[in-house]
Amino acid sequence: MSENKRFVYADNAATTPIDSRVLEAMLPYLTDKWGNPSSAYSKGREAASPLTESRAKIASLLGCKPSELFFTASGSEADNWAIKGAASAAKNKGRHIITTKFEHHAVLNAMKSLERDGYEVTYLDVEKNGLITPEAVEAAMRDDTVLVAVMYANNEIGTVLPIKEISEVVHRHGAVMFTDAVQAVGHIDINVKDLGVDMLAFSGHKINAPKGIGALYIKTGTRVHTLIDGGGQERGRRGGTENVPYIAGLAKALELAYERLDDEKRVLALRERLVSGILDKIPYSFLNGDREKRLAGNANITFEYVEGESLLMFMDLNGICCSTGSACNSASLEPSHVLLSIGVPAEKAHGSLRFTLSHENTDEDVDYILEKLPAIVQRLRDMSPLYNSTMERVK
Ligand SMILES: *Cc1c(COP(=O)(O)O)cnc(C)c1O
Repeated sequence: MSENKRFVYADNAATTPIDSRVLEAMLPYLTDKWGNPSSAYSKGREAASPLTESRAKIASLLGCKPSELFFTASGSEADNWAIKGAASAAKNKGRHIITTKFEHHAVLNAMKSLERDGYEVTYLDVEKNGLITPEAVEAAMRDDTVLVAVMYANNEIGTVLPIKEISEVVHRHGAVMFTDAVQAVGHIDINVKDLGVDMLAFSGHKINAPKGIGALYIKTGTRVHTLIDGGGQERGRRGGTENVPYIAGLAKALELAYERLDDEKRVLALRERLVSGILDKIPYSFLNGDREKRLAGNANITFEYVEGESLLMFMDLNGICCSTGSACNSASLEPSHVLLSIGVPAEKAHGSLRFTLSHENTDEDVDYILEKLPAIVQRLRDMSPLYNSTMERVK
């Protein structure tokens, strides 16, 4: 290994490190302030007030009322609750739901579960550039459509969808609009009232809070059945003693994310330099997803004639963390459903890498990736019979 080896974390869409200020905000509730926020005595109140304050802080950042925010144990739970809860509440009105082919598996598998229960789901095709148009949503709307779920930003290719415009279409047809905003919250200046959605899900560990905390915004008046039955927590709508330390961490993380929204411009410049550098230096490579309508930190690139898994291994040997698709996919050999949905052929989808940069990445990180990656790709291609025979033919 070369002496100039660095550690470069470029997989922020998979998870992010806990910010030290987030940890600091959590610590009192992991140590002496351990009471149950539902208890009436002062030990409980010690835990109840941070719960109230955290909810108020998050609500003010997202532009909603504190009573419209519900804490969950993950982004996946928030997705499941929104989808199954809204479908259940509307089942006498209609049983048709619309979503897209490139949602996160928390959404896609919740839809599969509803299909087993007799709901009908339309999975919208995704445009080649990784977008969904309001017109496509409108064309799929039916009289019995009760729910539409379209993600705000895709976790693999980073494309950012026109959620405000889609919400308008959905509401014109009298259905409920849900967006999985796990990748968007903290990177885009979101105000849920301006956005117009009825429900919005997000997660702590994608924004420098711990894993195992999420939240669902539910606009007042939206009919959603409970997913987790239990005690009277979260105004009787989500059972389970509240995870006070993690909720305090989530509020702090969101506050920090909103404070550094301006830094997304710097991240965008890093991403642009990374994408241009890779496409310039490495032939037979292409960017997946619209170059502009995407999250600042996301670069998803296909390298023809190489296996993503092998690329990943050599990147790891050089201290670079990135991914071949979504983290949930990395254990399976199925090509990414997201890349397939935008028309990337299966064999090419296998040769793709996702880099997701954050405010913690530097120019030196990008230089380092641009220094290592071309040689790694070339080395793997030199070992590929398909590459060698193709090069013979084009010579
Ligand atoms: C990570 C992610 C989720 C799941 O969130 P967890 O908190 O890990 O359950 C859902 N949707 C998207 C788009 C994600 O990126």
